[in-house]
Amino acid sequence: MSASAGGTVDTHCPYCALQCGMGLRPAAGEGGVPDVVERDFPVNKGALCGKGRTAPAVLSPQARLAGPLVRNRASGLLEPAPWEDALDRVAEGLLQVRAAHGPDAVGVFGGGGLTNEKAYALGKFARVVLRTSQIDYNGRFCMSSAAAAHSRAFGLDRGLPFPLADIPRTGCVILVGSNPAETMPPALRYFTQLKENGGRLIVVDPRRTRTAEHADLHLQPRPGTDLALALGLLHLVVAEGRVDEEFVAERTTGWPEARAAAMTLWPELVERITGVPVPMLREAVEMFCGVPEAMVLTARGPEQQSKGTDTVSAWINLCLATGRAGRPLSGYGCLTGQGNGQGGREHGQKADQLPGYRRLDDPAARAHVAGVWGIDPDDLPGPGRSAYELLDALGRDVRGLLLMGSNPVVSAPRAAHVTERIAALDFLAVCDVVLSETAAMADVVLPVTQWAEETGTTTNLEGRVLLRRRAVDPPEGVRSDLYVLNGLASRLGREKGFPADPEEVFDELRRASAGGPADYSGITYRRIEEEDGVFWPCPEPAAGEAAAHPGTPRLFLDRFATPDGRARFVPVLHRPAAEEPNGDFPLYLTTGRVLAQYQSGAQTRRVAELNAAAPGPFVQLHPRLAERIGVADGDPVAVTSRRGRAVAPARVDRAIRPDTVFMPFHWAGEGRANTLTNPALDPTSRMPEFKVCAVRVERADPRAVDVRYRR
Ligand code: SF4
Repeated sequence: MSASAGGTVDTHCPYCALQCGMGLRPAAGEGGVPDVVERDFPVNKGALCGKGRTAPAVLSPQARLAGPLVRNRASGLLEPAPWEDALDRVAEGLLQVRAAHGPDAVGVFGGGGLTNEKAYALGKFARVVLRTSQIDYNGRFCMSSAAAAHSRAFGLDRGLPFPLADIPRTGCVILVGSNPAETMPPALRYFTQLKENGGRLIVVDPRRTRTAEHADLHLQPRPGTDLALALGLLHLVVAEGRVDEEFVAERTTGWPEARAAAMTLWPELVERITGVPVPMLREAVEMFCGVPEAMVLTARGPEQQSKGTDTVSAWINLCLATGRAGRPLSGYGCLTGQGNGQGGREHGQKADQLPGYRRLDDPAARAHVAGVWGIDPDDLPGPGRSAYELLDALGRDVRGLLLMGSNPVVSAPRAAHVTERIAALDFLAVCDVVLSETAAMADVVLPVTQWAEETGTTTNLEGRVLLRRRAVDPPEGVRSDLYVLNGLASRLGREKGFPADPEEVFDELRRASAGGPADYSGITYRRIEEEDGVFWPCPEPAAGEAAAHPGTPRLFLDRFATPDGRARFVPVLHRPAAEEPNGDFPLYLTTGRVLAQYQSGAQTRRVAELNAAAPGPFVQLHPRLAERIGVADGDPVAVTSRRGRAVAPARVDRAIRPDTVFMPFHWAGEGRANTLTNPALDPTSRMPEFKVCAVRVERADPRAVDVRYRR
């Protein structure tokens, strides 16, 4: 139930895709923040990481925006303004751009942290009110390669096709480019329980992370070579006669082509490409194939590459060839990153997509959704640009932008260029909880409610739809994103169709998703509360059917979601990263997260306890490299790529390959990792290559490092 005795409200953490359950108990005094209390929710069983435990700190008035800000045209400064004036200014700004340059000159940029209701309403607002095709969201930077590979193999994209609770019961897990010990610590217990039950854990990561420390086998490939590694394992599976011929014949198509592709890479060549010794490849195959059930789970490591979709396909091919898909306790899954990374990609804020995971270029999907929205299908715009391409077009083709729940000044690749593009806009409106680096550049900043102050659904990495209940009242000057869309829609000529009440929006989302791949039509707020979440697809019972659909915790057990019910092998070949090291840029840079910060840090950098634990960026480098460039632990290091230069203190340790440096990406300023990253896009998913680019590293002037970050 949503509330228990003592006024504690059951809700979920605002941050990552695990969406840990927690209770919030109102503060005793006025103006205080609520206390987090333990909640026995199936995903996390009461456990929370430091980010979840301290999340209420961002609710405090000191941490966040208190009212709308509008840029004074004379002084150029952001100044407080009444809500009505701020909304008028946004409507005026967007209308002026549209009148001067047409509907596609207005862009919309959303976020993977938005609730399902907000993501749905934002997509509808873009297509119905603004009539623009130019909408995408930061989730494109997160899981889009896994989503594309999932869809083309299985006909459906849901991060995990099984509940997390299945992990400890399988025999072996290959965890590729994922570090749950730091990114979602309560999830680590699923892997430690796997080992306690006698299962084996293989971790693939260029760094010896805290997760890799738990592994039975740690494969440490060069950044950008995960595809070759997966092909090499598949080659050995074939060579050692470990293909599940019966499964391949009965439940898949395309094996001969995928097999031929894998046979192009023999083990010694794979060792040369990846740096992983042949005996370790053989050991991995033995562990993976030596048990009746096994899983492969990927995360951003293999996905955030310019060949991320093919890389994930290579890992899926390994699962299919060995019969580890569409069976209990076996399969491929993606560990999504953002809080609503799964739901945020299902309901229409993606450039090519309509609610229910329908495709914008599908005439039947357009007709269904247009019917729910009360418009002519021909009035729906077509697919637009992907996230980076949209940001790159700002100030040129796209001249006005409404941005909700994202901070691309810190989180986008080639961030200095993206910042220039944002500065070149004719008009920018930002809805956010805090004055993020991007919000600080806006013409209008609209302060919006956050997790504990509003009700809405999210969908966690298992495909489990969850309900976050409002637990506290928002500050006086703050409104919800749905209120903003309602106010803007009415100013732009749509009095109806944009309710500010989340449950009303969810009921419409259910109708819009009905019959689609991500069918939510049988899910209600009440069911979510009573059942600790409901797994989609969950269609509404047809007329005459008495029982409600139970939801679908496990997908593909009888058939895959392709037209013929068979999973599709996709033949893929290894190719190098878009940028390989050379004489000028001799090292790999890879980026990622640390335990005490989250994404662009807009919220977590405002939490004192988290800031104390992780006060700033650093450059992790191997002692051999440190010695070669004359750097000791804590010394300032300059990292330079073809796109710019970042400076941060050295963190010298043996956990990283000597040819690779690592930077976390949570900070702005001189230590911004994304100043360096490469926006080379995957041709299918349009995912940028955050995880690998070529850099040079040298000792920097000590005065170049922000004093807060010195050790
Ligand atoms: S693991 Fe993720 S959802 Fe759970 S408390 Fe930490 S940040 Fe929140």
